[in-house]
Amino acid sequence: MPLITNRNQVLEIYAVAAEKKWVIPCFCSENLTTTEAVLAAVAEHGKEIGDAALPVTLAITNLYSHRSQTLEYTCTRNWRTGLKLFLNDLKILCDADSPFRKLNVMVHLDHIQHDVDAELLDWSMEQFSSIMYDASALPLAENISKTAEFVEKHRAEILIEGACDEIIDAGGNEVCSLTSPEKAMNYFEQTGVDMMVVNLGTEHRAGSANLQYHGEIAREICFAIAGSRLVLHGCSSVTLEQLTRLFDDGICKVNIWTTLERDSAPVLLSEMARNAAKIAGPILAEKLFAEGILGSRADRTSNPSLEFFPTVYRQNIVFGEMRKIVRSYLRQFLLR
Ligand SMILES: [Zn+2]
Repeated sequence: MPLITNRNQVLEIYAVAAEKKWVIPCFCSENLTTTEAVLAAVAEHGKEIGDAALPVTLAITNLYSHRSQTLEYTCTRNWRTGLKLFLNDLKILCDADSPFRKLNVMVHLDHIQHDVDAELLDWSMEQFSSIMYDASALPLAENISKTAEFVEKHRAEILIEGACDEIIDAGGNEVCSLTSPEKAMNYFEQTGVDMMVVNLGTEHRAGSANLQYHGEIAREICFAIAGSRLVLHGCSSVTLEQLTRLFDDGICKVNIWTTLERDSAPVLLSEMARNAAKIAGPILAEKLFAEGILGSRADRTSNPSLEFFPTVYRQNIVFGEMRKIVRSYLRQFLLR
């Protein structure tokens, strides 16, 4: 199916998902390997549960200071180039001759900043399925008026996710309190957003430390706004077990990124260390061993092999691991 960007079609996918008690999974991507791993995992999951047309969203951030993913997409470090390639890659992966053609794929602009992303905000919004308009760094009243202005202008073109509260980065000194139902209700009513991000205790970029996802607050907010319109960010900061009943808590979309990169990199490191000589030759492998960087079980005798030193060797490892991680989330969000 071609990439789904029509607002009504997107709304329809959310409506069908709600009937099935699904939470729409949204994975951020800053390279083609990640995008393909997500699509491959969704297609595989679809096969397992007997539904070839599962919904999934691929997302990218732009000039978001915490992570500018369009800049990472190409070595030009030009966001326009990165964003166009990301979008084209997705379109081509949804073509009639792609193995992912049956999926319902949507594209999301994540954490788009009200100020530094002004140029992107002038692009036609119709080429995207949804956008997170992020003015959460502003005082609440300004956040609300900026977001309401954006909604007024673009509501007919695109599904809009607002950011009621900032989701902080792990390890910083910021303290962010959980969003109160009252605050969420005011924000929701005054901005007119389709869905919104509130602070439910998760953080961006965190390991599963001592954070707690607060489902009870999500439920109170949904009761206050009379709908399941919440988007959960910072999923990588809590354990998968905490995320099992999101639909019942009124979460309609989850955003995931950190875990994909954080938990695939160690597998790549281990594989490369184990196959050191096949990747870099015996002289370097021996030198790294002498320096104490490699251990005694690392291959130090083989010759470099075409199977091991090209980029695709590393991509395959990352792809395989990311696909596994995505599958583990899908089992929670897209139930049989
Ligand atoms: Zn986020």
